[in-house]
Amino acid sequence: MQCPNCQSHTTLKCEIAYEQGKSTSTVRGRDGSTGDVTTVSAFAQRAAPPSSWLKETGGAMVLAGIVWALLDDSRATRTSTAFTVAGWVAVVFAVLFVWRLLALPKYFRAHAKWQDRWICQSCGHTFHSNAGPSK
Ligand SMILES: [Zn+2]
Repeated sequence: MQCPNCQSHTTLKCEIAYEQGKSTSTVRGRDGSTGDVTTVSAFAQRAAPPSSWLKETGGAMVLAGIVWALLDDSRATRTSTAFTVAGWVAVVFAVLFVWRLLALPKYFRAHAKWQDRWICQSCGHTFHSNAGPSK
């Protein structure tokens, strides 16, 4: 694959560049404890995959929670516990619905695009395999 920016042939699939740039090392803290730290090189960060579906879902959950809290607050009279539970069940189903409808296809689309993405090792330019001058 040729880079459309600098015509270099030293290009790599983003997927591979990201995997190669990721490294796990064991570090020792001042108190003697050890832990594994995953570091991603600056180059690999450029080739990083799209944000995970968990992030997308998290946003929808927070939004639903805020809406429900507002609704709960605005109710003049306190209702029974059963009603509150039913309300929460409705919120959960609403979140799942929105998640399936919006977040999941969005993520898969972004991820599919990313898997077809290349990165140039010479200039760091990222591009799609069908965007280059030569196939
Ligand atoms: Zn390039």
